[in-house]
Formats: sequence, C-alpha cells, structure tokens
Amino acid sequence: MQIYADNAATTKMSKAVIDTMAECMKNIYGNPSSIHSLGQQAAEQLAKDRESIARILGAEPSEIIFTSGGSEADNQAIRSAALWGKKNGKMHLISTAFEHHAVLHTLKKLEAEGFLVTLLPVHEDGIVQMEDLRAAVREDTALVSVMFANNEIGTIQPISEIGAFCREAGIIFHSDAVQAAGHVRIDVKEMNIDMLALSAHKFCGPKGVGALYVRKGMPVYPLIEGGAQERGRRGGTENIPGIAGMAKAFALAAKKMEENGVRERKMRDALIAGLSEIPHARLNGDAARRLPGNVNFCFEGIEGESLLLLLDAKGIGASSGSACTSGSLDPSHVLLAIGLPHEVAHGSLRLTLSAENTMEEVAYMITEIAAVVEYLRSISPVWEELEKGEREHVIQ
Ligand SMILES: *Cc1c(COP(=O)(O)O)cnc(C)c1O
Repeated sequence: MQIYADNAATTKMSKAVIDTMAECMKNIYGNPSSIHSLGQQAAEQLAKDRESIARILGAEPSEIIFTSGGSEADNQAIRSAALWGKKNGKMHLISTAFEHHAVLHTLKKLEAEGFLVTLLPVHEDGIVQMEDLRAAVREDTALVSVMFANNEIGTIQPISEIGAFCREAGIIFHSDAVQAAGHVRIDVKEMNIDMLALSAHKFCGPKGVGALYVRKGMPVYPLIEGGAQERGRRGGTENIPGIAGMAKAFALAAKKMEENGVRERKMRDALIAGLSEIPHARLNGDAARRLPGNVNFCFEGIEGESLLLLLDAKGIGASSGSACTSGSLDPSHVLLAIGLPHEVAHGSLRLTLSAENTMEEVAYMITEIAAVVEYLRSISPVWEELEKGEREHVIQ
C-alpha cells in the first residue's frame, strides 16, 4: 500500500488543475502588460482568476496581490505593516510563538532593525487566548499577526474575535491562512482581516504561487521592485499558468469544502481514536478545534526520524515536526510552544489527510504505526529505563 499522509507539506494537483494550466501554457502565452490582443487575452485571464479568488475570500479583486507563494505573502504583509508602523511611531509587533518560519524569521529580522516583538503563548491546547492578546497590546502596537490554523498541529485560532478586537483598537491584523485556505471557510470582511496569506500548493494547486489579500486602504509596500504589475505592489511578469491553476484549485476546494471536510474529519477522528490506544501516546493540539485532516501525536521514547523512515518502508508518507525537516537537531518550536518537554517534542508524528485517503488506509496506518512504535521501543535504551522505573514517564 502507498499512502500519502503529508498534505500539510504539499498536496497533489488534480487533473482539472493540471489541464487548466496546460491549456493556459499552450494558448495564453502573451504578457498581460502588452497592448496587443495576445497580451490582452492574458490580462483577461488574470482578471478572471483574480476575481474568482477574491470572491471566495469575500474580498474585492483589487485587494488581491499575486505572489510566489505563502512565504512571500507573509513577508510582504509583515514588512508592510512594520514600515507603516515605523512611519507612524508604532514599533511594536505582536504574533504567536508557533507561527510558520516565514512569519517568525521576518519578525526576528525586524527585531534586529529596532522593532519590539511580543510572541503570544498558545497554551497546551495550541490556541491563542484573547486575554493574552489584550494584555500584550500597547499604544504603539502596529500589527497583530496570528495564523489561521497551525501547520503542525492543525489548531484553528479565534480569528473572528482577534479581527474584531484589532479593528476596534486600530491595529493591522494579518493572518497566515496558508493551511486554512481551501480547507475551512474564510471571509475576510466578516472576520475583520486586514491582510491574509495563502498558497496554492496547500490546496491542490501548483507550487510557487500564492496570494496576499490586503484590505483597501491598508498600507502595502512592494518587496520586489520592478514594473507596475499588481498595481505597483509586486514587480515581475505575472505567473499566468500558475495563477490559473491556483484559481481553479481554489474554486474546486471551495465547492467541495463541506463534503471533503466531512470525509476528512471522519478519517481524522478514527485515526486519533486508533493511535490513542498506543500506550504513552498523546494527541497534540485541541481535538475538536483543528483542521479536518490534521493528526499530530507524540509517542514517548520515540525519535521522529526513525519512525518516519520505518513508516516510509511500509508505504506511509508522513512527517514529523522535529529534526528531519530542519536538518538540525532542534525539536519543533510548535511542540515546545504547547509546553512539551524537549525529549518528547523530538518524537512527533504528523499525518495530514486529504479527501483522497480512505478508511482502509486509516486502518492500515493505525496497525503499522502501533507495530513500528512497539518495535522502536523494544530496541530503545530510554524506553528500557522508563519501563524499569529508572525514569519518569512524561506522557501517561
Ligand atoms: C506552507 C506554509 C507557508 C509557506 O508557503 P509556501 O507557499 O510554501 O512559501 C507559510 N505558512 C504556513 C502556515 C504554511 O503551512
């Protein structure tokens, strides 16, 4: 059996998306900035795609900027808010401890440039609390950046409450919605979101293309200088086939959101129930307020990497928040943020499902994961100490 359970890392493109892109590459090859009809044909395609994406988000087409992906969109949103803050004497930026590195590393750079950054805690359930946000806000707070849903543990944040609070307080609110877009409902107007990042390859679109929503009137500055593309907000000839693929994938995801969500939740909950049977295992992040396809577990005494390699040999493609992804031995900053001790934060397993997975695959994964965990524990000196009572269990 070959199972893909790493949809938070990236997704498989559907045939409809590939066909849309191929068609576009073959026939719509003009530059949308050209005056002639081939150029204008590309400009029309671009306008159509922009409108389609905007409509799904509850935004205006002029509020969508196409980018090279989620990372660029996050960088642009945060840098724009910071630059505006600097011009207005507001040097304080708020975010959370478990953001994606596209956000955290940008904030680190800004800190070195003189900004003051507060990272809110996300607590054991992996959810930001309004009291913490209220307590962190200062006179000079320019930006609040809170991800819509976390990429490792899938927890969904109280975005509407944060949006309402920030709007009232006159603070720019950015949300990294890369994991949420196409999977849960987003309405930027209703949720009072000022800026929002999304990426096509996380909802069955192509890699290397994304979008930044910026509410009309909000400050936005280009990261990439060049021509007047994207109303001067992002230089460079537009990725017409990529954008067409993203628009198609986003429309399909929106159309099937309910149906896919029901399917994924059912598989997710069966997987959680099955893996919970393994002794000294714990689910990371709130069980209910999480993305429909996200499962994230820690198994005490297990190294994430060894687990992934053995599962790969069994045909299961999964991921871990630990070393293997970063190439270093650092445990996941997300798991540390929800209070897991270092030794446990090394042993996580993330399984992220799509509607293409099946209940048979779920049953197979439960059996194989239980067997691999048992095997790894049988050869682990740490586990032996735990069993002998020479060391305390961290996960009961
Ligand atoms: C994948 C991801 C990103 C980065 O998106 P790219 O398009 O790969 O640059 C940013 N934030 C989150 C939450 C993600 O999951």
